[in-house]
Amino acid sequence: MHRHPPVSDAATAAVVVEDLHKRFGELEVLKGVSLTAREGDVITMIGSSGSGKSTLLRCINMLEIPDDGRVTISGETIGLKKIRNGRATVPADARQVERIRTKLGMVFQSFNLWTHMTILENVIEAPVHVLGVPKAEAIDRGRMLLDKVGILAKAESYPIQLSGGQQQRAAIARALAMEPKVMLFDEPTSALDPELVGEVLRVIRQLADEGNTMILVTHEMGFAREVASKVVFLHQGRIEEEGAPDKVLTNPDSERVRQFLARHL
Ligand code: ADP
Ligand code: MG
Repeated sequence: MHRHPPVSDAATAAVVVEDLHKRFGELEVLKGVSLTAREGDVITMIGSSGSGKSTLLRCINMLEIPDDGRVTISGETIGLKKIRNGRATVPADARQVERIRTKLGMVFQSFNLWTHMTILENVIEAPVHVLGVPKAEAIDRGRMLLDKVGILAKAESYPIQLSGGQQQRAAIARALAMEPKVMLFDEPTSALDPELVGEVLRVIRQLADEGNTMILVTHEMGFAREVASKVVFLHQGRIEEEGAPDKVLTNPDSERVRQFLARHL
């Protein structure tokens, strides 16, 4: 753990987002967001529906291309260029985006497993075909990861044969198989029946305890308080308040955060 801030965040942090802007047509969804995740940080992002949380995560791994601002992953800034007289922005180098994406594991609300593959095949697909890991090695490691998330017995099953909680744990194992520098979670338990939330949160908590860097959008306030090193509250595309969980979730400065907590605690 860093007791003092490093000299330059952008050079040493896992993720640095600087003055990010994103619009969809007339709608400006991100209005200048800056955020730093140092190695080992667990940042939980909260905020009302539509505040821009998913868009921010998707801009970090370039599933959405920001209109302005910078994203730097492990010291490498993603190159962007303007086209069409400045009316659109695209990556300057598609291969750079592909390479940087392999450093970011993303877990979505809706699991997004490949339905025609077994759980183990889901987990080894990217290591084998993107990273070129030998298949036998990928299988060994894949089985180890399935064991870690508690579903090794389901290795040869298809996603449809698993509960939602098991599918989400498979999706987490699949993301981990790429050995990402940072895990991005977008409301990983929101689509689950209440009785299945705990088993997924336990896995995420274990990853946090092991020192993994993560940015997690969640409405599970108790979980946010327990695992987060920092809580960020997004409101209408801007960071309204950020800080230690004990501060932001207990005694926030912002009246908006207070009202949000009153509705979600
Ligand atoms: P959150 O995750 O906080 O609920 P989102 O980032 O999903 O918020 O969405 C922020 C706003 O951007 C919403 O008004 C949403 O409708 C809009 N939005 C998100 N994605 C798109 C898109 N691909 N096209 C048009 N509007 C979008
Ligand atoms: Mg969202």
